[in-house]
Amino acid sequence: MRRLIALFGLTACLALAQTAIETKLAQLKKSPPELHAFLYKMPKGGDLHNHLSGAIYAESFIRVAAENHLCVDKVLLAIVAPPCTDNKVDAAQAQANNNLRNALIDSLSMRNYEWGRQSGHDHFFATFDKFGPVDSGDLVAEIAQRAADQNESYLELMALSGGGPISGLGKEAGLDDDWDITRQKLQAAGLQAQVASLSGRVNAMESVRRRVLGCQGNPNSPACRVQVHYVYQVLREFPKEQVFSQILAGFALVTSDPRVVAINFVQPEDGINSMTDYHLQMRMVDYAKKVYPKVHITLHAGELAPGLVPPDGLTFHIREAVDLGHAERIGHGVDIMHEKDPATLLKDMRDRHIAVEINLTSNDVILGVKGDQHPFPVYRRYGVPVMLSTDDEGVSRSQLTEEYQRALLTYNLTYKDLKEMVRNSLEYSFAPGQSYWINRSYAAVNTACSASTAGITCVDFLRNNEKARLQADLEQRFAEFEKSLTPQSQPAAR
Ligand SMILES: [Zn+2]
Repeated sequence: MRRLIALFGLTACLALAQTAIETKLAQLKKSPPELHAFLYKMPKGGDLHNHLSGAIYAESFIRVAAENHLCVDKVLLAIVAPPCTDNKVDAAQAQANNNLRNALIDSLSMRNYEWGRQSGHDHFFATFDKFGPVDSGDLVAEIAQRAADQNESYLELMALSGGGPISGLGKEAGLDDDWDITRQKLQAAGLQAQVASLSGRVNAMESVRRRVLGCQGNPNSPACRVQVHYVYQVLREFPKEQVFSQILAGFALVTSDPRVVAINFVQPEDGINSMTDYHLQMRMVDYAKKVYPKVHITLHAGELAPGLVPPDGLTFHIREAVDLGHAERIGHGVDIMHEKDPATLLKDMRDRHIAVEINLTSNDVILGVKGDQHPFPVYRRYGVPVMLSTDDEGVSRSQLTEEYQRALLTYNLTYKDLKEMVRNSLEYSFAPGQSYWINRSYAAVNTACSASTAGITCVDFLRNNEKARLQADLEQRFAEFEKSLTPQSQPAAR
């Protein structure tokens, strides 16, 4: 009985603490600068939709270009390979000349962008062709450090692709009516060796990340504690036979290399091949999933808006991504209400626990969709799991904190809402292993840890389940953050 009363007392105490945080957050909404400081420190779990090259800030691209004596094309305002002749100058000049540097930063990002002759969509996607030969794989440490600074603990970076030799194999093999035959041709032509070379690329990225962050000497630094996984990207604008070889390579890679946890499709969804071949590409994913059933799939789908494509182009991408494409998560999902029978689709996504990676800043600058026009509140109303992500934090000149701030202020969210999305960002991640939670209401933890996280059963469970380990760590971070908000730890008013 005494234990019951004590438990009741603890629950009441926790409820009181949560109410105090809600009150504090309601006050902070009136002061965005203070709100930013609050959200910057708040634990954020994972960023599940993050393109490696788009996450790098222009300043870093320019620095690396200068160090390696690459060139800046002063007309195109892009980094290009040597020789630095005609309109091109040594990139070191962009480190010494503020006018050139500023023009280049604006060209490599959405900074100072104004809608005009070039749409936000076109300016955004054009930036990726302007990074030149700078290898963004050498810059993963920057992203991990920025994540750690914002109290994030997990990243899934879209970073590897099958352009180049893998697409070359597809071009040679063609696409037979019987895809088993094409698959055999690709294997005979050495697809597996190309998959192995992608693993070599992961080795290189991981080794540079660890060296730059000093993880060997200091493995428990906040940045080294950020768990990084990679997501393989299929370039959807390529011809169909090359998309097919890319898909097979991606599935084989995820099967053989545990650091690569899923496949995704990238490049503009409104592009020529993306639109024309969408159904065919989803059928190809369906085929590959039958060959490699354990591979996780997340798909950009519905990153479209009325006017960008004809109306019928808005009606089926998300539905096909979840049905044919077996997507466990959807990236963006902005045009959901233009799908055929959106209510049934939303209910299906809720029932099948298909989560949506929401990228508010990106949708604003690329599609011009924001505020009431964005379906974020609709997904929440239907109970579809959502989490916030950055998409391209370097190009957008944003970071995850700003995504939380935008969501909170635009949609009048509570701390409870934020906490749920943060928990979603690990629960719906592709980190391996079982969940720390019994179910997705986050009310009770796995029986292995129900008595104590320090007990031997729980320690063993956490050691063997990376996802649960990240989630237990997140709860610890929440406890510390929330404790820091209690009156005793605040500076005394004078
Ligand atoms: Zn994206």
